[in-house]
Amino acid sequence: MLKVLKFGGSSMASAEQYAKVKAIVEEDGSRSVVVVSAAGKRNKEDHKITDLLYLCHAHMKYGVSCDSVFGMIARRYLEIRDALGLKTDLEGALDRIRADMENGMSEAALASRGEYLSALLMADYLGFDFVDAADWLRFRMDGTVDREWSYEALKNLAKGRHIVIPGFYGSLADGSIRTFTRGGSDITGALAAAALDADVYENWTDVSGVLMADPRIVEDPQSIPHLTYSELRELSYLGFQVLHEDTIFPVAEKNIPLNIRNTNDPSHPGTVIMEHFDEDAEPTDERRFITGIAGKKDYSVVTISKRGLSSEVGAVRKVFEIFENNGLAVEYTPNGIDSFSLVVSGAKLEKVLHSIVSQLEEKLAPDEIQVTKDLAIVAAVGRRMLDRPEIPGRIFSALGEAGIQIRLISQGPREVNVILGVDGKDFATAVRVLYNSFVK
Ligand code: ASP
Repeated sequence: MLKVLKFGGSSMASAEQYAKVKAIVEEDGSRSVVVVSAAGKRNKEDHKITDLLYLCHAHMKYGVSCDSVFGMIARRYLEIRDALGLKTDLEGALDRIRADMENGMSEAALASRGEYLSALLMADYLGFDFVDAADWLRFRMDGTVDREWSYEALKNLAKGRHIVIPGFYGSLADGSIRTFTRGGSDITGALAAAALDADVYENWTDVSGVLMADPRIVEDPQSIPHLTYSELRELSYLGFQVLHEDTIFPVAEKNIPLNIRNTNDPSHPGTVIMEHFDEDAEPTDERRFITGIAGKKDYSVVTISKRGLSSEVGAVRKVFEIFENNGLAVEYTPNGIDSFSLVVSGAKLEKVLHSIVSQLEEKLAPDEIQVTKDLAIVAAVGRRMLDRPEIPGRIFSALGEAGIQIRLISQGPREVNVILGVDGKDFATAVRVLYNSFVK
């Protein structure tokens, strides 16, 4: 049994958090590969080390001294080390970073040092070996990861050892450092899990798994015990911030379960994400027919009406072409016999509205073009909705009883969701109504 664990910034923020990490790792002998983020915020007013490193680089670029910012970074790590009573040579590491900075260190190289310092300290604290991500995580020039090369390299480096790896970065063939986009330590963890054919990838954060709804809207929402990759994709698309979006692929490909856990509540089982679950083995509790409720505000709908529009050959293509030429992505396309609607980002439409309307008029000669602003999308996501024909009906009646007008409905035959458009002002109420009628 081999488990790869990734600890995010909040789990690495202070000596107290390091102690929790150690307890988690030591509780289970198969937790032998640990990937860490840079120190994150200890409280709302605090700074993430990675932000400070980018800030430091910006100072250097404009020839402004970054001594005070660098001092803050150094102090955070020295404080953790001293509080834990470790002897790690951080002074030496910090001096080397300063020297590299004098020699024109790249932004990526400097930004990566948060993870590097975190991993040095955590390796020392756990008594594990430090394995630098630059030694195995190989980027190609185009920014993609050479997985074959990287997996082979990590397999050789990790063999039979307990190791700590810094997340977020790797190197190009010439040895120069390259980072993922922000939040990329999630990907490092997923790649390490895939490389080592781990039994599970545990992603430790500060929430007890993926919550069924946005906690800013629904008070104390339950967490989702089991989530499929396609459900996660739907929820993420509509605003759930769970993992870096490139995290899924390496683990999904090898069918490695991804378990999101809470460092501050380690006994909570969190959320397990997999391609499929053995549905028979799961509780048939009805509330699970909806996995999560997501949504986003600030959409606009362009509705083109013309008698016989649906039977006009090529009309839909012309409409799409006009949106494409204006660089506008179309999110949903509910349509009627004589009308065709396109749901798009409100802010983006604003910039090209005149151009789109004039082109539609010219190419389609419609009877009417209507633009409805301030639409919110609310989606009930659940893989088992397909088997339960009454669920969409219940969704509509719950919203109807709450006096919420449904402006748009979209559900494909293979979808794991029901998507509804409501007025922006009804957004939060709609999410709460759905949550309360299906979960409580
Ligand atoms: N430290 C990096 C960031 O703040 C990467 C990560 O934590 O995943 O984006």
